[in-house]
Amino acid sequence: MNSTDDWRQRFGGAMMGSYSPPLAMLVRGQGAHVWDIDGKRYLDFLAGIAVNALGHAHPALVDAVSAQVATLAHVSNYFSTPPQLELAERLLRITGAGEGGRVFFCNSGTEGIEAAIKLARLNRGDGSRTRILSLVNSFHGRTTGSLALTGKAALREPFEPLLPGVEHIESTLEALEEAIDDTVAALVVEPIKGEAGVLDLPEGFLERARELTAQHGALLILDEIQTGVGRTGTWFAFQQYDFQPDALVLAKGIAGGVPIGALVTFGWASDLFTPGQHGSTFGGNPLATAAGNAVLGEIERAGLIGNAGRLGERLRTIVAEIGSPLITEIRGQGALIGLGLSAPVAADLAAAALRAGLIVNAPNPSSIRIAPPLIVGETELEEFRLLFTQALEALS
Ligand code: PLP
Repeated sequence: MNSTDDWRQRFGGAMMGSYSPPLAMLVRGQGAHVWDIDGKRYLDFLAGIAVNALGHAHPALVDAVSAQVATLAHVSNYFSTPPQLELAERLLRITGAGEGGRVFFCNSGTEGIEAAIKLARLNRGDGSRTRILSLVNSFHGRTTGSLALTGKAALREPFEPLLPGVEHIESTLEALEEAIDDTVAALVVEPIKGEAGVLDLPEGFLERARELTAQHGALLILDEIQTGVGRTGTWFAFQQYDFQPDALVLAKGIAGGVPIGALVTFGWASDLFTPGQHGSTFGGNPLATAAGNAVLGEIERAGLIGNAGRLGERLRTIVAEIGSPLITEIRGQGALIGLGLSAPVAADLAAAALRAGLIVNAPNPSSIRIAPPLIVGETELEEFRLLFTQALEALS
């Protein structure tokens, strides 16, 4: 029995059946590459699904985590620590929430959404503000509250009944106009629907959502778990527009792979929670927040937000130059890219890419998602061209 058969069997025998069998057993990473247990090298253009912003084993993250774990890894929420306050203040600065803003730390995206749902429940008005809106085809997480918001019936149905008061509306201006009134507590939106295949919203959608929620006293909560932290070419995708949300949910890229999530509130939304209404044992502990400071600090120091924009442009050019008839659409922004395919063969294409030594994924049958680390340069881009071309050729 070789090592591949061995770990597959062990996985099947030990891990909960909630995941499909894994694609490979990865043992090591460096920069934009990872290696499997058999020594095969892969170019990682998925980055843990938009998490490993600095790539793998980046010295800034390694040093910060090593130093913090050797100093103070965890304290209870009866106490604060310097890295926690530093990260909260940093998030208020880079989101633009500023002095009127506040940060709640948790450990994952779905927990950030749970905190946002509780925020929405606190926006009750005279008691009639009970509805929470999200979009058809959205993804907000797998815990029961965020699953209720997730706009994919197939994911929700096995676990119903879920949270009452949630409605999924179409991503159209008409649907916004029709749904938003004084009974809406919050509208929760991804600026780009990542899990749905990197789908952009229609022109003017977010701006109109902002106007209507403000007009009716509803919170506009942006789920930037996938689009945030530099990936789309600005710190946060909403910063490409001329407005602020009431709340922002972040996770994935903040700490480069160390689990963390955050709910950032703006303005009046910052006054909704009172002491004792929410909490988390691990959320905001010094280890995770030191990792967050290291990652966000390095993104700033190395100009990686600008790089996300540049490498996104280069990737779009390379895909266009490859010129496969299978690829009919290039979606997304910056270094979050969705390729629309003319046939439902995305899983086969991702598998062919993996065989060629390239990691991308197939969020749905006719879309490929590309989300490389933000550190990627010309050498890795040319390697992508070669490997992706091989994968496309293998498929045809
Ligand atoms: N929201 C969005 C937009 C996501 O992409 C994800 C994860 O893919 C989540 C929420 C859930 O985050 P987590 O898996 O950290 O709970």
